[in-house]
Formats: sequence, structure tokens, C-alpha cells
Amino acid sequence: MRIARFSIDGNVAFGAVEGDSPPGSTDGLVLDIIKGIPFGDFELSGTKVPLTSSDAKTRVRLLPPVLPNKVVAFGRNYAEHAKELGNEVPDAPFAFFKPSTSVIGPGDEIAYPSFSNELHHEAELAVVIGRMCREVPRERVKDVILGYTCANDVTARDVQKREKQWARAKGFDSSCPLGPWVETDLDPSDLTIQCTVNGQQRQLGRTSEMIHSVEDLIVNITEAMTLLPGDVILTGTPAGVGPLSVGDEVAVTIEGIGTLTNKVIKRG
Ligand code: MG
Repeated sequence: MRIARFSIDGNVAFGAVEGDSPPGSTDGLVLDIIKGIPFGDFELSGTKVPLTSSDAKTRVRLLPPVLPNKVVAFGRNYAEHAKELGNEVPDAPFAFFKPSTSVIGPGDEIAYPSFSNELHHEAELAVVIGRMCREVPRERVKDVILGYTCANDVTARDVQKREKQWARAKGFDSSCPLGPWVETDLDPSDLTIQCTVNGQQRQLGRTSEMIHSVEDLIVNITEAMTLLPGDVILTGTPAGVGPLSVGDEVAVTIEGIGTLTNKVIKRG
């Protein structure tokens, strides 16, 4: 099931996305509104709204598919990417945080920060946590995952190089686009992951190239901290990271999930 979070006529709800659409488009899709929230047991209401509508009253706007309490991101989890930035592949997974205020949704704008001259895209598979958990054993990892979505770990590369901690480089407002929805029925072990800028391919990899698997990462982080429903884990980016400029349209596509598209604007 694909679960989206959306607003319609001033109300916010979750919905199950039904139907088929051309790649990168939402034409032809409908949302079956979910009663309550999609953590734990939930029901579909049977009330359906089209995802694309010309009528302002029924116009749907997709929101970030979850509002995480925290986004835990893992670095250098693809060997080719570590190499392209001149870094060693780490022996153990290493994590950093992106704050909840960095999250934006599909179609939202990435605001180029004033303190950087080198903004980079990083296409990543995002894991969405479905239930409160800690010290999760490998065989229980599946039980704590709600599903998967696309992410862009937008990075001020120049700031990352000159500051020891990455809080500003990777945590500024709008640096964590998520979406377009959460796919709950997906094997994450070997999916195509791609990033395009203005339609031109920049990154292309497979999740099977990850050094540490989704299971490894969840075991690793829950040794240290409790994850809450809606928390998001970013699993690292394949090779091909590169610059974004004001006016660019950046799209992350993951096989079996969909496409997350955002435009870069000058911070106002
Ligand atoms: Mg990253």
C-alpha cells in the first residue's frame, strides 16, 4: 500500500494512494482517506478524492508523508560515493541527525542557504518507522518498519568541509525533502535509485550496493536510542552527487516507490 499525507480544503489527512499514473505524474491517482493515522491498525474510509483536481475545493496538496520526531541519516554507505569525495569507507555505520524542521514534502521548494555556495543533491532510500522501538534484534527489524519513501539529503558541501559538525551543512531548513508517499509492501534490498537534475541523470545506483543493509542500520541506531513512529532513517547515497543551482528541478526516483521532485529557490 502507498500511504500519502495530504491537505485538502484546510484539513490534513492520510490516504491510501490507488490507481496508476505515468512516471513522475499523479494524474489518474485517487486517495482513499484513512480513518485516523496509519500507525498500528487502521481502516480506509472508502471516501475517495482525486490526487489531481482543477477544483480549488477538492485540490489535494501532498505533504511530507510523515512528520518525524527525528531523521537519523547514515553517511558513506555506498563505497563509490565515499570514494568520489575522497573518503575512506567506514568500518561501522556512522549516523548524524537532520532536524524535524529540515523536512519538506514533494513539490516543496529547497531554499538555497545564504551561507553556502555549493549545494549538493544526495538521493537516498528512506525507511519510515512504524512503532516505538529500541534495541531491535535483526530478526525483528521488519516489524518496526512502516515502509519506504524517497529522500534527498541536501547538503551544503562547502560548509560540510569547513565545519566539524554537520548540523548546519545538512540540517538547514528544507534540506530534507521526503515523499511522495510511503510504500509499505517493498523489499528494499535491490532497488534502482536515481537522481536527475532538470531531467538529466546525475546519480544511478542500486540499494544492493549499500555497505550496511537496512537491517544493519536499524540494529545499529536502536542500540543507542528509541525510535518513534514516523521517525525516518536515511540510508546513504550512491555515487554521482553534484551541485544544485537556484532554478534547478531535482528529482529522486526509487524503483517501486515513485518520484520525489523539488525545485531550488533563493532563500527569501
Ligand atoms: Mg547522505
